[in-house]
Amino acid sequence: MSGTLYLVPTPIGNLGDISRRMADTLAQADFIAAEDTRVTLKLLNHLGLKKPMVSYYRHNTAAGGQAVLERLLSGESCALVTDAGTPAISDPGEELVAACAAQGIPVVSIPGPCALVTALAASGLPTGRFTFEGFLPMNKKNRRAHLDQLRGEGRTMVFYEAPHKLQATLADLAEVFGPERPIALCRELTKLHEEIFRTTLGEAAEHYAAEPPRGEFVLVLAGAAAPEEAPMTLEEGAARVRALRAEGLSLRDAARQVAGETGLSRKELYQRALEG
Ligand code: SAM
Repeated sequence: MSGTLYLVPTPIGNLGDISRRMADTLAQADFIAAEDTRVTLKLLNHLGLKKPMVSYYRHNTAAGGQAVLERLLSGESCALVTDAGTPAISDPGEELVAACAAQGIPVVSIPGPCALVTALAASGLPTGRFTFEGFLPMNKKNRRAHLDQLRGEGRTMVFYEAPHKLQATLADLAEVFGPERPIALCRELTKLHEEIFRTTLGEAAEHYAAEPPRGEFVLVLAGAAAPEEAPMTLEEGAARVRALRAEGLSLRDAARQVAGETGLSRKELYQRALEG
């Protein structure tokens, strides 16, 4: 019988976010697959744990993944961790999970720190519907093409960004979505200098042009406002009055209801419905 792959999130800055289940899973796994074994060694030392580790990072997902897969198939359990946050979310892990799913190897995802959710929740922007865009493409042309696709996006958009690219990204975002679009820049989440800067794209670009950005950022951008519905014309209102009459309402009540719904004059609706 095969072992289990455990996806173990790690703190994005605050060691107080280590959960009991996260620590227990690391302690109980047969081995750990880590994005950077030196970073994970510090975490293990903090927890007082000693564990065999293998490397599983962006540029060895094929060979590293195959080695992990073989050990899982032979019955060992593996805890997958990255440098910070939830594995497989803009971090190594996606391919390994897909390979496990294809081979029928159980995958257990432990809930825990994730910069995307932490930022979205604090952004003050609508959270009911959102789209996670991860890192934008590095190449200027691909980046613009990607942003152009998002032009009419009505859902809140979440981006990850490195500080040295923030100024260029804000300029691109302001060009595509306009300087008035609200944005929350969530910096150094869970750390000493945590900051949620709720502003507009224009102001954010100006702010960071003067002060070079430092720290880690999640950008939470408001979606496009829904186009306003065209107001109902008197003719359309009268048609609605007639439809309500056909449902059994008196002309008086129908005109009053439609006037209330549309802001049109009750008298004019009454008159026009009579004429039609
Ligand atoms: N898998 C991770 C997660 O679940 O949050 C994300 C890894 S991705 C390689 C790293 C990016 O996450 C950073 O460039 C930044 O955009 C964001 N990030 C990570 N930690 C952060 C923090 N403490 N504050 C703000 N953003 C953070």
